[in-house]
Amino acid sequence: MFGFLKEKLKSWFGKSEKEAAEAEKKEKNKTKKELAKIKKEEKKLKEKLKRELKAEKKAKKKEENLEKQIAKEEEKLKTEEKIELAEKEIEIIAKSEEKAEQIEEEIEEEEKEIEETKEELKKDEGKKQGFFSKLKSFFSYSITESNFEEIFSDLELLLLESNVALEAVEKIKSDLKKQLVGKEIKKEKLEEEIKNALSNSIMDMMIDPENLVDKIKTHKKNSGEPYVILFFGINGAGKTTGIAKIAKLLEKNKISCVLAAADTFRAAAIEQLAIHADRLGVKIIKGNYGADPASVGFEAIKYAKANNVGAVLIDTAGRMHTKENLLHEMEKISRVTKPNLKIFVAEAVSGNDATEQARAFNDLIGIDGSMLSKVDVDEKGGAILSISFITKKPIMYLGVGQNYEDIELFNKKKFIERLGL
Ligand code: GDP
Repeated sequence: MFGFLKEKLKSWFGKSEKEAAEAEKKEKNKTKKELAKIKKEEKKLKEKLKRELKAEKKAKKKEENLEKQIAKEEEKLKTEEKIELAEKEIEIIAKSEEKAEQIEEEIEEEEKEIEETKEELKKDEGKKQGFFSKLKSFFSYSITESNFEEIFSDLELLLLESNVALEAVEKIKSDLKKQLVGKEIKKEKLEEEIKNALSNSIMDMMIDPENLVDKIKTHKKNSGEPYVILFFGINGAGKTTGIAKIAKLLEKNKISCVLAAADTFRAAAIEQLAIHADRLGVKIIKGNYGADPASVGFEAIKYAKANNVGAVLIDTAGRMHTKENLLHEMEKISRVTKPNLKIFVAEAVSGNDATEQARAFNDLIGIDGSMLSKVDVDEKGGAILSISFITKKPIMYLGVGQNYEDIELFNKKKFIERLGL
């Protein structure tokens, strides 16, 4: 039993072993093919993977770039926001400035209104006081800058006509301005006020001299030396007469003196002084015509010292060929005689010329004071004031006539009285 099947199976199995081997072969080939295919597939897959990886990397980079761009955009947006904010702030500031201006304008307007109200109130007040203020201005005069100029222009003319130098006039003007402008003066007092102001100004411009007699006495007492006085001035100024007048004055006050005729450039000058010395009974030292003036002065001092004489009065030349000569001469005589006093002599009548001479001599040798002759014939008086103001030195004596007694110690109060102030 079952042999058949057994056989059949056996043949089948035998047959199928072959087939199986072939199939196995086939299968192996197939597998090889499939393996190759799989490898190919695998390679393909790997490449695909690579590509995908690359693409992924690229995508990532792109994404990163995008993120950066977004960040930048965001930054940009932030800046724009800031700008916007700043603009808003500027707008707010501008608005508040506008408002401040508006407020200022309103304040100004209000102030204007207040001023207008004040003006109106003043007007009302004025209406009330009108009669009294009118009455006041009827009796009084208020001096302002402009009407002062009007008042002073007349006075200025008067002063210039009286030989008052321009600098002195300017000084008077500024003094008067200070004293008068802004003043309310009763009409009947106007003249008196102007006179007072003028008198104050002149008092301020002049210097009262020291008493020469006292000075010489003190000097003699303290040093035992003679008091030396040099006299300067142009020819004809009244120098010799002036010296003689002083000699007389000193003798009267028990001060002995010696005269020195040091104007050796003019024979007439030596003679003239000698006549005065003779008349007064006073010693004179004179050199010959053309001698060295400094040595004449020196001799006179020597004589005074030897004879216990109180004062030496030295006459000097009034004119040289050139200003340099005169300067040299004055400098030398001053150096040699070492005077205690240098007096400039001029004629008051020569007015502005006398003032200019005073300026020149003062610049040249530096004077200590002035003596003005012929005041008895000078009606103007301007030179006295001008010389005093320009030299800033006192007017010491005034010559008031041709006699030896016609000499006055200058006194500014008296001078002002003479001017009618
Ligand atoms: P010097 O050249 O400077 O020495 O001048 P003088 O002393 O010789 O004076 C010249 C002239 O003026 C003389 O005739 C003097 O009599 C005269 N004189 C001098 N002083 C006065 C004075 O005070 N009054 C008047 N009226 N004449 C004077």
